[in-house]
Order: sequence, then C-alpha cells, then structure tokens
Amino acid sequence: MNPRPSALEPQPVAAPMPAALLRRAYRCRCGRPVFFRNSVCLACETPLGYDPRAARLLPLEPGRVDGTWVPVGEPGRRVLYRRCGNFASPAACNWLIRCDAQGRSAQPLCPSCNLNRTIPDLTVPGNELLWQKVEIAKRRLVSELMALGLQVRSRLNEDPERGLAFDVMQSVPGGPAVMTGHADGVITLNLDEADDAKREGTRAQMQEPYRTLLGHLRHEVGHYYWDRLVFRSHWLEPFRALFGDEREDYGEALQRHYANGPRPDWPQRHVSAYASSHPWEDWAESWAHYLHMVDTLGTAASFGVSSADVELQCEPFVETALSLPDDPQGPAFLAFINDWVGLSAVLNELARSMGQPDLYPFVLSVDAVRKLHFVHRVVADAIGHGGELPETDAAQDEAAVEDGGAPAQPPETGPAPLSPA
Ligand SMILES: [Zn+2]
Ligand SMILES: [Zn+2]
Ligand SMILES: [Zn+2]
Repeated sequence: MNPRPSALEPQPVAAPMPAALLRRAYRCRCGRPVFFRNSVCLACETPLGYDPRAARLLPLEPGRVDGTWVPVGEPGRRVLYRRCGNFASPAACNWLIRCDAQGRSAQPLCPSCNLNRTIPDLTVPGNELLWQKVEIAKRRLVSELMALGLQVRSRLNEDPERGLAFDVMQSVPGGPAVMTGHADGVITLNLDEADDAKREGTRAQMQEPYRTLLGHLRHEVGHYYWDRLVFRSHWLEPFRALFGDEREDYGEALQRHYANGPRPDWPQRHVSAYASSHPWEDWAESWAHYLHMVDTLGTAASFGVSSADVELQCEPFVETALSLPDDPQGPAFLAFINDWVGLSAVLNELARSMGQPDLYPFVLSVDAVRKLHFVHRVVADAIGHGGELPETDAAQDEAAVEDGGAPAQPPETGPAPLSPA
C-alpha cells in the first residue's frame, strides 16, 4: 500500500525535529553533571530544580522572598521559583513553579503534579514507593510533551473541556477492578503497574516483549492526543486511510484480539502485536514508540552519543517508508528513524552484555515506519500551531452525526491486566 496524498492531506509544516528539542544533560554550578531527577547536587550540595517550561535542570539559590528560589548567579531576577507542593511528599517532585515578584503562583503544584485527580491511598503500606515510581515516569512523560511544544493543560483547573487528568488507583477487595485506560481526557493507571513483580508477571503472561510504567503512560496519552489532534482536525481522513476506520466496534475488536491472538501479519503492518487490535490501538502504540524514540535519541544526542559512531550496517529506510512521499521533512524524518535503528540495535546488544532484556525489543517494518511518520507529521503540525489544531467543519458534522454533538466516545484499553504498554 503505497500512500498517495489525497486532496484532504494537510500541508506539511516546517518544524524542528523533535529529538533536537529535548535535552537531558545538565550541569551544576560546580561543573559536574547532574540529572533530570536530582533535587540536590551530590557533590557540592547546591539545590537543584527542573523548570519544565525552559526544559532545564537549574542550580538554585534562595530568592529575595521567603520560600522562593532563583537560578544561581541571577539574584535580581524578577521571575521567582517555588518548589512544587509535592516536593516534600512521597512524589519527591523536583519541579519548579514560576512565581511573580511577590512569590505568588497560579498553582501550588507543578504542571505534572497538577494533572493528578486521584492519587493512591498513601496509608496503605508500600503505596508511597509505588506512587513515587508513577510520578517519576509521569514527569518524564510530561517533560517530553512540554519540550515538544504540545499542550499540557490540567482538566482540573486549567481546561475542564479539553485538558488532561490522571487517576492513579488500585483495586480493593470487593471493589471494581481498576482498568488502565483513557476516557475523555482522564488517564487511569492501575497502581499494580508500578509493582515490578506484578507488572513483570503480567508481561510474561501476556507474552509482551516490553511493559513499563513509562510505556503505559505514553500509550494512554496517545489516545488523549488522538482526540485532541486527529479526531476533529484535518488529520481524520488521512488517519483512516493509513490506520483504518476507528469506527469499527472497539469492544468486539479487543475481544477478538484477546480470544484469537494478534493478526498473523502484524509484524509487516504494525509496530507491535497489540497495535493490530484496532486503529485506535495502532495509533496509540505508534505514538508511544514515537515518544520513546524522540526521548531516547534526544538523550543520546545530549550526551554526544550518535548512531554515526556505531559500527553497524543496517538497511536504511527510504522514501517508500514515508506516509507522504514528498514531505519536505521526509529526509530529516528518515535520518531520525535510521538513527534509531542503528542506535537501538547497539543498545540491545549492550543490554545483552549485561544480561538484561533488550532495550527496544521490536523490529520496525516499512508500514510501521509509515505510521510513525504520520505521527511525526501530526506532532509537527500541532507544534507549528502552538500545540492545538483547528477543528474542521467536516469533523464537527461527523461528531454531530455520530453522537448527537457530544464528545467522541473515547478509546479505552482492554481489561486491566491486559492493557498494553
Ligand atoms: Zn554541584
Ligand atoms: Zn510536581
Ligand atoms: Zn490503548
């Protein structure tokens, strides 16, 4: 299936390659390397905090208002920082909130913690540590989304219609099972996914090659951005042409997937077995892989690691792997994908040298790369439009016909322990 641009095909947008927007290497005032999670330099004890809008980890000194901070060497700075209200909580959040000159901020929580609608019951022994793992993964996710320029707005107090929120919950005996999934801007995560033994048990039982907290979050947020960026935008028809018609009955599709296993030809058509279950899942899986690649390649580049240094001959993907053959960004995208193929092959080999599972246990097909290119084009389009895409008349009509004008029935993942990475 070689894609031909249709009249509906949105115009390409020139935007920087997303991996170039993500920097993961930082230095303390003492010159030593410090890392995304650090709240203090272990060498010189300088306090550190992450400014998500600047995508930088900053060495800090006290600001002139009590409880505020400024970057080291900028004592006269007008914009002050406070620490996130979850700094001293089990979430151990090291993110900073921007304040005015009087030290006032709009929210007590950072842009990642401010998405929390439900957090686990912290009086249950062990939950503090599990929640901390969730928040660490969530900060990684949110920092990437913000660095890319995608809109991350809280459904709780910033955008009740189109915003995002998280329920991190656990099943209790006699109560309903908590299902990991996305519905109408709310991502539910079963806290069991933060328990290594339980998650690994499920992964083995489901014969999945990869199951992580971060993978879950990237997948579920893919459903959220499908609603935001594809469903009511000019991308809907091109999406259907490439991924299939998402109006196919979702519940039946998942039942079929779990009863019969994935389509036998999934390796040629999809990025993962689960992606073959339904067009929504194909999108969410492709989106998650795209975020994996952007973060990992951005991190590699931040530390001067390049696949150009890798002694490995791979057959490169060429124009046939593009979803729009004459996309002006096509060559840059192909370079990105081919970088990933080289780098991930070496990372897998390094993991094997340590007796660890492969870092990226997937093989990309031409069709899967085409879908990744489609995700890339949607992201580039959104970045070029300030993170939001205008609704089309056709999409509005369709929404009205489908559900009487109510928001689209959102995707959800399958039964809780079966939900994909
Ligand atoms: Zn230091
Ligand atoms: Zn926070
Ligand atoms: Zn899903």
